[in-house]
Amino acid sequence: MTTHKAVALIAHDQKKDDLAAFARSHQQALSRFPIVATGTTGGRIAETCPGLKVERLKSGPLGGDQQIGAMIATGDVGLVIFFVDPLTAMPHDVDVKALMRLAIVYDIPMALNRATAETLLTALG
Ligand code: PGA
Repeated sequence: MTTHKAVALIAHDQKKDDLAAFARSHQQALSRFPIVATGTTGGRIAETCPGLKVERLKSGPLGGDQQIGAMIATGDVGLVIFFVDPLTAMPHDVDVKALMRLAIVYDIPMALNRATAETLLTALG
């Protein structure tokens, strides 16, 4: 992935601690890319990883997931890491589905759990 494309970070509420810990342990790899994140997730990442420059978008339920989808369509996002909570019903479930759809349409790697995210970041080198 070229380094001018952003890595998008998103986590549902029950997964924010996991994503913050993941970002902290991969801070060096992530620092090679622009980072965009949904609002609340971005705040947590910025707190946990002061060395990372994070562009914060709207909160997910208020359109943040769709903003990331739009950035995939414009070629500005090259990798999505989305720690999804599979056990809680979400009002913005359709937005998550729409984001997954655009990642498929544009053939963008998208990790939905930590194991896949680890594999993708390792592959980026
Ligand atoms: P948030 O959005 O980072 O603003 O909580 C994430 C989501 O639920 O899609």
